Amino acid sequence: MEIEDLEIACTVMQEENAYIIRGFLENEGIPCQLENLAFHAEPIPVAGLTKVRIWTKKSDAERARKLIEECEQVAACSACGHTVMAKDTVCDFCGESLDPA
Ligand SMILES: [Zn+2]
Repeated sequence: MEIEDLEIACTVMQEENAYIIRGFLENEGIPCQLENLAFHAEPIPVAGLTKVRIWTKKSDAERARKLIEECEQVAACSACGHTVMAKDTVCDFCGESLDPA
């Protein structure tokens, strides 16, 4: 895959969940790549808090997001649309408090 053809389908806070989502997408025929942000997270890396971006081809990204939404582990922030884990209480992107589904 060429990098310019890739798009971030979602960002997850736990590496193990990223692997679950990757497996889920690949089962659906959507190849994806994980980018672990632990070593360039800001401002200070937090133990146990690993941010992982999931990249797919641009042509797959929209479908990937829909599939990820169907996966009960993730949800979209009501304020900014950023993909967050359903159990999170605060959006890691904009800081919005998330209502439990
Ligand atoms: Zn948000």
